[in-house]
Amino acid sequence: MSPVKITVDTDSCVSSGQCVLLAPGTFDQDEESGTVVVLSEEPADGEEEAVRQAELTCPAAAIRLTG
Ligand code: SF4
Repeated sequence: MSPVKITVDTDSCVSSGQCVLLAPGTFDQDEESGTVVVLSEEPADGEEEAVRQAELTCPAAAIRLTG
């Protein structure tokens, strides 16, 4: 299985924090703006399913997974 790569559209992000709640090892939020920060290009250990959930539930559809 090829590794999943994460890309986010920070311009679309509405700072809801949902992705951080689901996968805190993979996503963080900028302390001032609340915009998503991707901590690693691939899901953190054990967070692949949570990252898929984040892609599906992000209210701004700002998260894209490839691979
Ligand atoms: S769930 Fe989507 S809108 Fe919310 S912080 Fe994460 S990327 Fe931004």
